[in-house]
Amino acid sequence: MTLTAQVVVIGGGQAGLAAGYHLRRLGIEFVILDAQAAPGGAWQHIWESLHLFSPAAYSSLPGRFMPPQPGQIYPDAQHVVEYLTDYEKRYALPVERPVRVLGVHRDGLFLRVETDAGPWQARAVISTTGTWWRPFLPAVPGREAFEGHQLHTVTYRSPDGLHGRKIVVVGGGNSGAQIAADLAYDTQLTWVTQRPPRFLADDIDGRALFDAATARRRALDSGRPDTGGVASLGDIVAVPPVREARDRGLLKASPMFSRVLPGGVEWTDGTRAEADTIIWCTGFRPALSHLTPLQLRGRRGHIAVDGTRTVDEPRLHLLGYGDWTGPASATLIGVGRPARDTARQIAELLE
Ligand code: FAD
Repeated sequence: MTLTAQVVVIGGGQAGLAAGYHLRRLGIEFVILDAQAAPGGAWQHIWESLHLFSPAAYSSLPGRFMPPQPGQIYPDAQHVVEYLTDYEKRYALPVERPVRVLGVHRDGLFLRVETDAGPWQARAVISTTGTWWRPFLPAVPGREAFEGHQLHTVTYRSPDGLHGRKIVVVGGGNSGAQIAADLAYDTQLTWVTQRPPRFLADDIDGRALFDAATARRRALDSGRPDTGGVASLGDIVAVPPVREARDRGLLKASPMFSRVLPGGVEWTDGTRAEADTIIWCTGFRPALSHLTPLQLRGRRGHIAVDGTRTVDEPRLHLLGYGDWTGPASATLIGVGRPARDTARQIAELLE
């Protein structure tokens, strides 16, 4: 039996909930389908020591401030999970889980959403599936032949079980710096970055990142020169554990190696470092395989969007994946505005 809703939202993380909040405000009937067994999206799976890079009040979804976490300026991931769980309940958002969307298809006036719990049909679809589910690993020669243990940001949990190990952490972004800081005290750490690490000034946190992303979007939208956005400030927010490890001289980075050996890594000049574990903090790609049947990818592999609406399928919106779907839309505070615009555009479409 095919179930129907005016709008199907795919994904029940923060972006899906923000979409639900605004659809509800406009009186649009919808359902949220989420592959996870519990609320919280990717925050349920992030490593244990992670803290947000903004204070609670600057990490809020529309309608409800995130309450402060007692004793912490920068809340931890568990606090975010509790906030999202409460948000979902408070607004009685209709989330069905665990339901995995397998494919979205055109079906006359409707979009048909095939899931592992049966099909849905909808007049519009908002995809909010995030990036956590599609970790990116660079094609480094020798990677398959490595005889040790390989982890990615998504599979790293804590230093437990890694004490004393020879570990190579790859990546000069926030994940790489924070995981390197986590491991700097009790392992033989080699931290490798493609370019020298660029720490943001110590007094800059997620608030400034949000402002920089917004200023960039405004400049581009009004035809003014590109301000450089977040990238102009640096790559790594100096959250307290990163700052501490850096100040103790424990976060010295080496350039990227040229190949992986069975027992370590090697640089172009022949220098080698032994390793029994490599942790790839090398980023993510949008998790969009469920949209393959719509054949939206252009020649360069990108899906063209106008705001959040896909150019080649106006009944489909992409929300929360990064600046290309709204400034800072992949953050808690940044997703509210594109979610509101998305709901408004869908209301117009349904009229
Ligand atoms: P997700 O949280 O990934 O939620 C997507 C949901 O969709 C999941 O529940 C998933 O199971 C589901 N899903 C996926 N595919 C399907 C499918 N086919 N069918 C059904 N459901 C599906 N942001 C901040 O604001 N502050 C920070 O300090 C911050 N720190 C970060 C640190 C790290 C290491 C990372 C990786 C990100 C950080 N972010 C931060 C960014 C961002 O807030 C998170 O990545 C957030 O989880 C993105 O939310 P989302 O709803 O877009 O995606």
